[in-house]
Amino acid sequence: MNRDTELVRGGAPGLDRATIHPYVDATPGPFFYQRTAHPVGAEAERLLGELDGGHALLFSSGTGAGTALLLAMVNPGATIAVAAGGYYGTVGLMRELARWGLEVEEFDQTGEPPVADVVWFEPCANPMMTFPDLDAAIGRAHAAGAIVVVDNTVLSPMLLRPLEHGADFVLHSGTKILAGHHDALIGAVICARPEDHARLHAFRTTSGIVAAPDPAWLLLRGMKTLAVRVPRQSATALELAHRLGGHRAVERVRYPGLGDPIAAQYVDAFGPLLSFDVADERTAARVERGLRLIENATSLGGVASTLEARARWEPERVPPGLLRLSVGLEDVEDLWADLAQALDS
Ligand code: PLP
Repeated sequence: MNRDTELVRGGAPGLDRATIHPYVDATPGPFFYQRTAHPVGAEAERLLGELDGGHALLFSSGTGAGTALLLAMVNPGATIAVAAGGYYGTVGLMRELARWGLEVEEFDQTGEPPVADVVWFEPCANPMMTFPDLDAAIGRAHAAGAIVVVDNTVLSPMLLRPLEHGADFVLHSGTKILAGHHDALIGAVICARPEDHARLHAFRTTSGIVAAPDPAWLLLRGMKTLAVRVPRQSATALELAHRLGGHRAVERVRYPGLGDPIAAQYVDAFGPLLSFDVADERTAARVERGLRLIENATSLGGVASTLEARARWEPERVPPGLLRLSVGLEDVEDLWADLAQALDS
């Protein structure tokens, strides 16, 4: 069966909303208790594991997935090198765990990774949009003995399958493009090796950092349209990136689709996320306030476009006028008209 067909069939046949909720299941078997496993989660994991080419586990959120991965697979006192310019919450999580002896260093993922026990990449980094030379960088990290994690939230397995480039673990915030409709909080880790999957599954049961059936069901439902949404959102994002580049109020557009030769080696489309710089924080706030169609909201990857000035959350990590745009499924002309009027005002 082709991938796109397989996606639509995820959860079928017979897994309707009644049968996927075994709140009471006294029968022995893998689904004896939801914290260990439940049918809808198992089906979502089967599908996601197939898409990413590994062994998937769902967690309560993308951040929950990261927490479980770090606590279960990384030793106390380990050194972690994490992509600078990537999701600030990931760095926040690692700094929180520094209290347990983890040492965190942010590095430029477009260059050589430093020697560390864990190297954590984020292609199309949110929000700085950098893209690593995955084959070379993962090769170097492994040669130095590191565990390699790739946060593939922004691109999804539709565009990039990091396990094929040697990653040990892929992480997704399923909250974003996988579920895709701004209505679920969920995360996933895909393990390259079955023994890591077994260890992480055991940790998930003991820690309780697990996805409940409802968000897992929303994930499955969202994934039915993933193969249609991702190319469309990517095409609209690329067109908007070009047009933003020609607007006098825009100083810089950050989108690997605008001629990043390294990114082009790994993907044929560049996902829904892009960032652009306006003069300063005040201008960025004016653009946010001027929008009429695009939501001024923090999440990304969903069917509705969202835009946000990132200096609000991470002023020390981004330029003051940086705006991050997540492109949804609206018509490109409507999106451009909204951006242009907000930038002109
Ligand atoms: N990874 C990336 C790249 C993200 O953008 C986010 C959230 O924005 C996360 C991980 C964390 O995901 P969640 O909000 O599901 O915890």
